[in-house]
Amino acid sequence: AEHKVSNFLRQIIEKDLEQGTYASRQWGGGPGDAAFHDAGQPDPAKIRTRFPPEPNGYLHVGHAKSICLNFGLARDYGGVCHMRFDDTNPEKEEKEYVDSILDAVQWLGFGWQSSFNGKTEQHLYYASNYFDFMYRAAEYLITAGHAYVDEQTAEEMRVNRGDFGKPGVDSPFRARSPQENLARFRDMRDGKLADGAAVLRAKISMQSPNINMRDPAIYRIRRATHHNTGDAWCIYPMYTFAHPIEDALEQITHSICTLEFEDQRPFYDWLMERLIEGGLLKAPPPRQYEFARLNLTYVITSKRKLAQLVNEKKVSGWDDPRMPTIVGLRRRGYTPEAIQLFAERIGVTKSDSWIDYSTLDGCLREDLENKAHRGMAVLDPVKLVLTNWAEVFGSDGYTEDCTQPALPHSAIAEGQTPPPDRVFKIGKDVWIEREDFEEVPPKGYKRLFPGNVVRLKGGYVIECTGVGAKDADGQVTEVHAKVIAGTKSGTPGADSVKAKAAITWVGAADGVSAEVRLYDRLFTDPQPDAGGKNFLDALNPDSLKVVTAYVEPSLAAAKPDQKFQFERHGYFVADRTDHGVGGKVVFNRVTGLKDSWGK
Ligand code: ATP
Ligand code: MG
Ligand code: MG
Repeated sequence: AEHKVSNFLRQIIEKDLEQGTYASRQWGGGPGDAAFHDAGQPDPAKIRTRFPPEPNGYLHVGHAKSICLNFGLARDYGGVCHMRFDDTNPEKEEKEYVDSILDAVQWLGFGWQSSFNGKTEQHLYYASNYFDFMYRAAEYLITAGHAYVDEQTAEEMRVNRGDFGKPGVDSPFRARSPQENLARFRDMRDGKLADGAAVLRAKISMQSPNINMRDPAIYRIRRATHHNTGDAWCIYPMYTFAHPIEDALEQITHSICTLEFEDQRPFYDWLMERLIEGGLLKAPPPRQYEFARLNLTYVITSKRKLAQLVNEKKVSGWDDPRMPTIVGLRRRGYTPEAIQLFAERIGVTKSDSWIDYSTLDGCLREDLENKAHRGMAVLDPVKLVLTNWAEVFGSDGYTEDCTQPALPHSAIAEGQTPPPDRVFKIGKDVWIEREDFEEVPPKGYKRLFPGNVVRLKGGYVIECTGVGAKDADGQVTEVHAKVIAGTKSGTPGADSVKAKAAITWVGAADGVSAEVRLYDRLFTDPQPDAGGKNFLDALNPDSLKVVTAYVEPSLAAAKPDQKFQFERHGYFVADRTDHGVGGKVVFNRVTGLKDSWGK
């Protein structure tokens, strides 16, 4: 924890640890409670956080912030972070999402196990396992006069809730006796009322300045099959009621959520107090803290809108490398280390702001700079023929090995053995970038033009002699040059001829054709869905360009998901789905070498 930048949450946690706020807590719900959930017995003095997604979609980069925050705090303070599925909404949840969420959290580098006193415990929970307890808590509130069954129409309830500066109006059902409410609530449970015919509401105050405290609904009737509890229930707890109970049953200490829940906190505390009063829960209760959600430029982080991109086929799927989903970021080539660094760097604050996308790319470059092996790839190839090759080396078919380090010297730590050199062949024909030749060079141009001398990086110095061939449109299809004997890199004569520039290249003898997917931002607008804008209007028509490139053999031999720095071009990853299938070589561009957006 000492290497981390402090923030308001760390300060709260450190104070709680110092004061032993949770040191005396006891485990479980009420005595003899069948819903008592054995949340393990880790050191009660330690903190417990939780990451509580609803399994109704794929996680995105905003969730990654929350994951890094909750799991990261637990790790740094020796506590545990619970992995909890907030699956209280019967219609929208699916097993597919549960699996992908677990996978995403683990891929990011986190786990939900604790080990204390030699005992290892898994902390993976489902809110739906607490339905029995939640139901009993609701009956308790009714019995104690803190809840009532309201049978107003939805419209009446909406109107009578009032508004800012306009107090609410009591429901005609508010004065029902606890006995009447209990009977009616049981009718709800037993399926005697239609969906929407009644709700259970907490009885707090219709005059509260906080609209969330004006008798919020805590249970509703919904005939829907739940993925876990099936048809056991036709009433389901509302999120605002369920969430604090989930936290309490799991003995969470710091319940961290995004700012939009700030107005819910008084109800969170109210509910905890009532259930402690009633002996259903034990003090001290968990506390809710809010932080600013992640807003990232050029990115949308609404599950609904992301689903729209997938359903309307604007992208190839949830894991399209342009998607800000964790599966998309992963396939694009972002690393867990880069995302963790990003989360750390953007910090946690209490006010909303926008983070520039380049911050994420900066973290990726920082992570890969010393890790990603280098390699040469020609993305826009044109053939270069070394016309005097047979004269110098005896035959047109002659090739020679060139070697270059896989990592630059600066990337090798003290005492670390450098990885083996890359080996690739130079011969009569090589591929160069189209932009590296100009028939008539613009001012200051240092690469190939008739008469100029450059080095083929890691190979020989060559002198350009001119255009070798053009197609019908006048486009250059072949460039000619002469190789200068005795100038090979790494040999004593390497510096005998001065080159104006060194250019990247791939030998025709051993270069491998590759599909390279050049990704760019999905949107042209930094805030594509702000202020009611239609984000579909801001789709970047050039967010994907596919090129046929040539890559050196070390790149063609990549394993799926392996990352490289293509010299001068940026960071690339072998596509984890398509690379290697049917012998195809497929790379995705993660990001360029430095931020060039808009420049
Ligand atoms: P969406 O609005 O995209 O549906 P959600 O907030 O409803 O997302 P949940 O599954 O409920 O999705 O989220 C799980 C956790 O992730 C919550 O604690 C939530 O606060 C957090 N989270 C969601 N989006 C962001 C974000 N943009 N920045 C930080 N945390 C987020
Ligand atoms: Mg949610
Ligand atoms: Mg949401």
